[in-house]
Amino acid sequence: MSDVKAQLQEAFERTGLRQTPQRYDVLAWLVRHRKHATAEEIFDAVNRTNQRLSRATVYNALHALVESGLVRPVAGEGAAARFDATLDRHHHFICDRCGSIEDLTWFDLPSKAMQAAAGGRSVRQVEITLHGICQRCARGKTKQATASV
Ligand SMILES: [Zn+2]
Ligand SMILES: [Zn+2]
Repeated sequence: MSDVKAQLQEAFERTGLRQTPQRYDVLAWLVRHRKHATAEEIFDAVNRTNQRLSRATVYNALHALVESGLVRPVAGEGAAARFDATLDRHHHFICDRCGSIEDLTWFDLPSKAMQAAAGGRSVRQVEITLHGICQRCARGKTKQATASV
């Protein structure tokens, strides 16, 4: 089968989250499309291929995936939460001007500094969000508030 399918099955096994068709569909869509989509956009997309799913079912599936750590909400100021699969590690860049969220190649943090900052807390995951002006906005090619995903 496809790589995505194997990757997803491995992810469900690793986290111990019970795999249901709805959870699979939601996670597969996020992995394949690499978008930072809102719950509404995820519902629309999944609903297009499987009309029988109710909104509540899709939202519950999304919630279970977030709880398990397979999906995370991406911080976006003043906007509806956007969701991202966590199967491949990456950081984010959020544009102050157009609000676009871009994936950045993963880089490790100096673990000594991180441990010092965390003190006695146990760290499960780290994510970095850089804020600034994206390349398109820097070139003046986008107008304000035309957030694209
Ligand atoms: Zn921008
Ligand atoms: Zn991302």
